[in-house]
Amino acid sequence: MNLSRKPSVSLLIEHLRPQKRRVILLTVLLFGDIGLQLISPQIIRRFIDTVQTGTLETLMYIAAFYIGVVLVQQAVSVWSTYVGENVSWIATNRLRGKLAYHCLHLDMSFHNNRTPGEMIERVDGDINALGNFFSQFVIQILGNALLMAGVLILLFVEDWRAGIGLSIFAVVSMGVVLGLRKIAIPHIKANREASTEMFGFLEERLSGAEDIRSCRAVPYTLRRFYELTRNWLKKEIKSGYMINILITSSVIIWAIGNAAALGIGAYLYWETVFSIGAVYMLFHYANMLIQPIERIIYQFEDFQRAGASVERVTELMNIQPVLTPGRGDALPDGIFPVAFHNVTFGYVENDPILHDIDFTLQPGRVLGLLGRTGSGKTTLTRLLFRLYDPWTGSVCLGETNVRHANRSDLRNRIAMVTQNVQLFQASVRDNLTLFDPNIDDEHIKQAVENLGLSDWLHALPNALDTELTAEGGGLSAGEAQLLALARVFLMKRPDLVVLDEASSRLDPATEHHLEHAVDQLIGNRTAIVIAHRLGTVRLADDIMILDEGRIVEYGPRKALERDETSRFSNLLRTGMEDVLV
Ligand code: ATP
Ligand code: MG
Repeated sequence: MNLSRKPSVSLLIEHLRPQKRRVILLTVLLFGDIGLQLISPQIIRRFIDTVQTGTLETLMYIAAFYIGVVLVQQAVSVWSTYVGENVSWIATNRLRGKLAYHCLHLDMSFHNNRTPGEMIERVDGDINALGNFFSQFVIQILGNALLMAGVLILLFVEDWRAGIGLSIFAVVSMGVVLGLRKIAIPHIKANREASTEMFGFLEERLSGAEDIRSCRAVPYTLRRFYELTRNWLKKEIKSGYMINILITSSVIIWAIGNAAALGIGAYLYWETVFSIGAVYMLFHYANMLIQPIERIIYQFEDFQRAGASVERVTELMNIQPVLTPGRGDALPDGIFPVAFHNVTFGYVENDPILHDIDFTLQPGRVLGLLGRTGSGKTTLTRLLFRLYDPWTGSVCLGETNVRHANRSDLRNRIAMVTQNVQLFQASVRDNLTLFDPNIDDEHIKQAVENLGLSDWLHALPNALDTELTAEGGGLSAGEAQLLALARVFLMKRPDLVVLDEASSRLDPATEHHLEHAVDQLIGNRTAIVIAHRLGTVRLADDIMILDEGRIVEYGPRKALERDETSRFSNLLRTGMEDVLV
């Protein structure tokens, strides 16, 4: 997709091209709509003039014709709005999809630097602004500009004085409205910012009410609240004035426009250039001029906003993943060893988290990874999955360097249960199958049974149909991990299992289930288990202790247990759970 040159134009063309037919239809409808709007004052003029000289029958014909024109015009207007919205939604939905797809394929380092709110604003907010641009630009700006041009041309054809008079009026009033809005908008914006700040403050304080009370911060919070409301009030008053000025000015402009039209009309009537009907027509056209002036100005602001959105969307589209897809080397068949060769890595430049990590885990062995919080255990496992590339050194699975490995191979052959399992607001079944309807209940029950979790499942109020909420819906961190373990069993047949144990304390029953399930999951696969509990540590063949990103101890568990001077046996003696959790 080439968005780099003249972003808005190429974006517009690119997304309208597949809908050529609809766009042509829209253009025809738009012209039809404007044409019909321009005709109606002419019919009224004929009607008024006929009142003085013509017959009742002619009047009836003119009236019927007028009603017909107005009805058709309304129908055309509705139709063109429908087609316009359709064109814009189809175009922007396509763009929304493209953008979401693009973002999902960007690196973790990209997402770490952005909040979910920001991403929603990019993928939805900006695209909405573009949607307005697509539909409103055509219908409002182009349509209204055409309508104005049509009115002025018709007036010139009628009489040059009327044409010049109302052209001057159009230009001057546009200048006035623009100037006033320029003064008013900053105040209205400031008011909106003050209210946003106020609600942000309220939301944060209300959700932290417990801590605020317990820390006796209520008076401070209230004082801040009063400060913010006082500020808001000031801004509100100013912006209220400004909005009033804007409304009043448009009423005044409307009055001046009408006065000008009636004045010019009266003059031309005395000069016997205009009939009474023509004077009315002039008055009607003047009214038709005023509306587009305001609409164009309002839409112009949308237009500018869309310009900024186009820029941001283009910028986002131009961000390329730093982790380029490797050569696509296949992983070795069967279980494989895992090796880190002098790996140094950090999330932010010049701040390494892992230092010179070097070890080899033989196939089929289970590595128990221990270390204080923040020592880099989770970080180490992220490199296995190639969520990041190491700064120096390499991570190898068998002979295959992860950097060159086939991505879907990595996803399929490595099972990872993370520390904080993400649950979705859905049933237990959907959370287990990740919404894959092809996995039948028998299969699910089998997996649950294999992990020894049938009791747990039956204890849930509606078994598989129990609804969970996004925050975990009453499941403890341990139970969420149980669910994630079953999920792994259902989704794939991994050769390497990575388990990042939840660090919160578990009740004995859940702990027992978890240990059993982990044991089942590991089977005779190669595994890396970040252990926070003694029970899980006992599953390990090898033990590695990390401290501030460095390996400070590594060896077979039994040997370390026997060695009284080792950190591991020291940990076991002092009560590992107190030190590590
Ligand atoms: P815990 O036992 O609490 O889970 P951990 O050993 O798993 O700790 P890591 O999560 O690997 O520790 O974090 C190691 C360091 O890296 C910490 O200092 C942490 O602040 C930092 N860190 C972790 N994730 C990120 C990230 N996405 N971006 C930047 N820094 C990070
Ligand atoms: Mg961790």
